[in-house]
Parts: sequence; C-alpha cells; structure tokens
Amino acid sequence: MNNAYFDFAEPKNEAVLNYAPGSAERKALQAALKEMKSEVRDIPMYINGEEVRSGKLAEIRPPHETAHLLGSFHVSDEQHVYDSIDAALNARDKWAAMSWEHRAAIFMKAAELLAGKYRYRMNAATMLGQSKNAYQAEIDAACELIDFLRFNVYFLSQIYKQQPISPLGMNNRMEYRALEGFVLAVTPFNFTAIGGNLPASAAMCGNVVVWKPANTQVYSASVFMEILIEAGLPKGVINLIYPPGPVVGDICFAHPSFAGVHFTGSTGVFQHMWKTIGNNIARYKSYPRIVGETGGKDFVFVHPSANVDAVVTGLVRGSFEYQGQKCSAASRAYLPSNLAEEIKKKLVSTVATLKMGPVDDFTNFVNAVIDEKAWNSITRYIDNVKSGNGDATILCGGGYDKSKGWFVEPTVIDTTDPQYVTMCEEIFGPVLTIYTYEADQWIQTLDVLDNTSPYALTGAIFAQDRHAIEYMTKALVNCAGNFYINDKPTGAVVGQQPFGGARASGTNDKAGSILNLYRWLSARTIKETHVPPTDYKYPFHQAD
Ligand code: NAD
Repeated sequence: MNNAYFDFAEPKNEAVLNYAPGSAERKALQAALKEMKSEVRDIPMYINGEEVRSGKLAEIRPPHETAHLLGSFHVSDEQHVYDSIDAALNARDKWAAMSWEHRAAIFMKAAELLAGKYRYRMNAATMLGQSKNAYQAEIDAACELIDFLRFNVYFLSQIYKQQPISPLGMNNRMEYRALEGFVLAVTPFNFTAIGGNLPASAAMCGNVVVWKPANTQVYSASVFMEILIEAGLPKGVINLIYPPGPVVGDICFAHPSFAGVHFTGSTGVFQHMWKTIGNNIARYKSYPRIVGETGGKDFVFVHPSANVDAVVTGLVRGSFEYQGQKCSAASRAYLPSNLAEEIKKKLVSTVATLKMGPVDDFTNFVNAVIDEKAWNSITRYIDNVKSGNGDATILCGGGYDKSKGWFVEPTVIDTTDPQYVTMCEEIFGPVLTIYTYEADQWIQTLDVLDNTSPYALTGAIFAQDRHAIEYMTKALVNCAGNFYINDKPTGAVVGQQPFGGARASGTNDKAGSILNLYRWLSARTIKETHVPPTDYKYPFHQAD
C-alpha cells in the first residue's frame, strides 16, 4: 500500500445451504460423495509447494464404513519436518514483505473457491473422512472456513489501520510485522475449519507455517491445501506434513527460529508443548507465541424456571450432534428436582428417535466416532456405568457396535453423585451425564458446577426468571469462555460468537476474532522527528 489506502469491507456470514430433498445442493453433494468414494486417493505432503511422497503409507477409511478404503497419505519422517522448516524460512522474507492487498487477495480467492467450485468436494471429504452428516459438514468445512478467511482479512485490515497519535513536529507509526521465524500449526480431527484456520490466520499476517493436522483429518486438510495452491499461495508459505506428533514437536520446539505454535487439541498435549517450549526458552531468537485451544467439560445448568422443551432440544443437539465430538458439546447437565422427571422423560423419548448410521444416508442424525482409540475410550466409560461400580445408571442408549464402523449410541447417564467420573472428565463422544439437584438449592449447586472440572470452555444456562439469569451470569463468570443463555452450548459462528475457553481449556485467544490475529503480529513503533533538536540543553538549564 504505497500510494493509496484500500478498504476491505466487513463480510456477511456465508449462508448455510440446507440440503433438503430435491435441492440442487443435495444432488451436487451426493455426486461428490459418489465420486470421492470411487477414487482411492494417494495424498502427498506439500513442502515448498511441491508434492512429496515418502512411500510409507497410512490408510484412510471412513469411520462409519471401515471396510472401504478412501486412500492413503504419505507419513512424514524427521527429514520432512526439517525440510518444511527450511522451506518456510526461505519463503519468509518475500512473503512478509508482500503488500497486504496482495496477501489478502490470496485468502479471499481461497474463500471464493471454497464457496463455489470446491464446496461439495470439501464437504464430501469431511463427511467421508471424519464421519460428519451433510449439515455438520456444511457448517464446518464450507461456512466456518469461508468465514474464517473472509473475516480475518477484514479484522487484519482493521488492525493495520490502528495508528498512534502524532503531535506536531513528529510522525509516529506502527508497523505490524510478521514474527521473526516460523509458526507451527498443530490441528485436531474434529473441525476441518480449525484445520484450515490455524495455519491460514498466521500466514495471513505474513508468517510462514509448518502445518501438521491430525492423521484422521488429513483427507480434508489436503483438499484445503489444493485450494490454497490454486488461490496462488506462494511456495513454502504453508507446508503440510504428516509426522507423528512428538516428532514434529521435538524438532520444531528445538529450532532457534521457532516463533510460535497455533494449537487446537487436547489439554495434555498442549501442556506438554508448553513445558517443552519453556525448557528450550534460551534457544530461541524471540519469545514464541503460545496459542492453544484445548479440552472442555461443557455444562448445561437448568434453573427451576426453565422451559422444558427448550432444555430438551438444547441437550439433544448440544450433546449428540457430531457424536458429541465438538469441544463445545454439552456433557454434564444439572437438572432441578421440580423439572427433572419431565425433562428425563422427554429426553429419553427424543433420543430414541435419533437415527444412527453412515453419512451417505441423509436421514441419519448420528454417525460414527472418529476411530478405534476413541471408540475404546468412550465405551470404557459406558461399561464402567453398566458394571454398577458407581452411583450411576444408563438412562438411555449405552449400546455400541464396531462391526461396520465405530458406532456408539447416544447415551444418557443418570447419576446421584455430582462428582461422578463422567461429570468431571472429558469423554469426547455421544455421552451426556445428568445430575438432579433440589430445586431450592440452585445457588449452592452453581458452586458445585464451578468446582467440578478444571475446564472452562462452554456452558449454557436455561431459565425464564430474569433475576436468576442475571445472578447465574455473574456467579459463573469464570466457568466458560463461551456462555449461552437459553441455547445449546455449541455452534459458535465466526464474527458472532468469538470462540475460546479459559482455565484448562486454553489461552482464550478467540479464533475468528481480531484478538487472535494480534498474537501473530509483532509491532514495530517508528518515531520520526521532522526538525531534530541541535542543542542537548533544555530551557531549564539556562541560568536565571
Ligand atoms: P489431540 O490432542 O489428540 O491431537 C491434536 C493434534 O496434536 C493432532 O494433530 C495430534 O497429532 C497432535 N499431537 C498429539 N501429540 C502430540 C505431541 N506430543 N506433540 C505435537 N503434536 C501432538 O486432539 P484431537 O483428538 O485431535 O482433538 C480432540 C481434542 O481437541 C479434545 O480435547 C477437544 O476438546 C479439543 N478441541 C478443542 C477446541 C477448542 O476450541 N477449545 C476445538 C476443537 C477440539
């Protein structure tokens, strides 16, 4: 921007297509699913803009249809990590120096390609690779990722405009430089949009990136990489590799040019990363930025004045959409004794109507959980309840089957112990635990909720009494980074509900908001004095 200031208008959220029977989008998506299922994809790494193949293959199969082979990806080793760091650092100076309007154009073009030409392929990849139904894929892989790209261009434009004051005689300026080194993006399986956003938001700020997605998201991650390349992303700016997590961590965190990590995933992995970075702190050229959004134990607190039908719908959608594998999914609920029986009755009858099966049958509400490891972990919690070892019973669901895919029925556990293990630990599956409290003890029960888990990601309250709503909003101020009143605790939209949690749930840098972008910038303040003083003495030095 040498001789003009350019405007980047505030975007509107991408409209969600509904995929109703007979709609053009339903036909297009079904065709994309068919086409992708007919291929066996050979997925390379992308280092310095080149496709790289190690020959060491890892298979990709739909979680809901494990007999089917979608393709394989080429597993990365240590050398690929070093190569991608080198490629990133070689690309850095030119990329960091590129004018903003040209950098922005690449990401706006990527958003446009995803909204049009690639929409159904990206949704189909997410449905097949991560077992999302059509709607869950649409709100994630298409709409949220498009919104991340467009809104971040807008937010960054707002940041670049922020300038200090300049009294007469001087000009003060702020430059928002890229970090001096490379950024490591490590992304989870459960959102294609997070996979795309963590490398893209840092890169948009002029940074160069090494991107390591979860193995179970490589299938859709590679489609996003194809989009970025078609959008004109220069070689080496984002390098996509698939090494085991500890390999990428050990190499990147030991590198002097490591400048930051943009992570989403579990709390244990993030804490391990932070410790490693702390141990290596003297090696780095600059203090690395550490941004991580991690686990949750998201709550629904029902006040005695709540509307029962709104609660039941909030619990069903909030707990069981995408098989409870959203970091924001409701997984513990506190019911008042005056409403508990009615809520449980309606919950059981509603859950009985949820159809479970593969993603290509659009009537299914629930699909499979991501992989065998998740299936084993979730079913262990269910078996523990069934064994009668604690103060808990299965209210509905509790079945599971792995003959065709990693299926776990939506399950509601009823407990009389507010500290029962499934009220406290993140399960990351379709399992909701409910605890009934005495209706006149609702204020004391808020304390129990507050002290039950180390997390503070999302939470919802349901109530009609406005005094109670105000009281709970204040009393639960530190319990959730995203707090909902009379709504489910999931479904944050970019630009509307900036997302992130506190306590053990992360650094709360709010993906998809202006706050996140500040973390990938290093400001330089420039003061220019027009007529510099030529005498070191100040007026008070003069003799009387
Ligand atoms: P995960 O922690 O198992 O994996 C996340 C990423 O870290 C993957 O790419 C994985 O390969 C990598 N990894 C694992 N060990 C590593 C190591 N030692 N060094 C470097 N990288 C390593 O998480 P997941 O199962 O993919 O995702 C589910 C978790 O993510 C849940 O805990 C969920 O709550 C959390 N999550 C949080 C948010 C949020 O915004 N707070 C959003 C989505 C998911």
